[in-house]
Amino acid sequence: MSKALVVFSGGQDSTTCLFWARKNFDQVTALAFQYGQRHYNELNAAREIAAEAKVPFHTAEINLFSRISPNALTDHSMEVDRMATENRPPNTLVEGRNMLFLTYAAIFAKAHGIDQIVTGVSQADYSGYPDCRNDFIRSLNQTLNLSMEVEFTIHTPLMWLDKSEVWKMADDLGVFEIVRDQTVTCYHGITGSGCGSCPSCLLRQRGLEKFLSGKKAVATP
Ligand code: ZN
Repeated sequence: MSKALVVFSGGQDSTTCLFWARKNFDQVTALAFQYGQRHYNELNAAREIAAEAKVPFHTAEINLFSRISPNALTDHSMEVDRMATENRPPNTLVEGRNMLFLTYAAIFAKAHGIDQIVTGVSQADYSGYPDCRNDFIRSLNQTLNLSMEVEFTIHTPLMWLDKSEVWKMADDLGVFEIVRDQTVTCYHGITGSGCGSCPSCLLRQRGLEKFLSGKKAVATP
């Protein structure tokens, strides 16, 4: 029996991955992290979506990011950058976040007899976060295998997809409405289409428009 653990946040990407995993593995578990993010609303959304998907849901706390490296997602006094500046990614980058999430996920997975790990990182449509890139994920996969003597496979189904293609994947999986209405991607923690103006909402919205216009073009010859 194939068993997968999904690193799950209740956002568009990881929700799409959750349903992708349900289609591709016999048994799926979701693990969400409480890491001092601005809005617990996303954890509530994650819990509800996992329940709807009938996937066991676990949470783990990693609460030290804001103490050791300032970033706008966990330091609530910082303004969220609108975009990347010339020399650095936007301040919504939480240094090392994916590395730690995947490391804790692997520890959890080993303890539960799971060897497949799924994460929604993407190289194609992000602001240059280094730990979302394929090279890093492949390197960490090898390191985790060596560190725990398990043949983990880290799956990244969204790695080369832009946001419109992520919407298409949700649609193909039959969960377009769940992703559109129940996920939280907004930096202000607003469910569904969000505040409409933060960088995360704009990215999501542009992807949705591109996906919907492509769909319309196919439907009307
Ligand atoms: Zn927003």
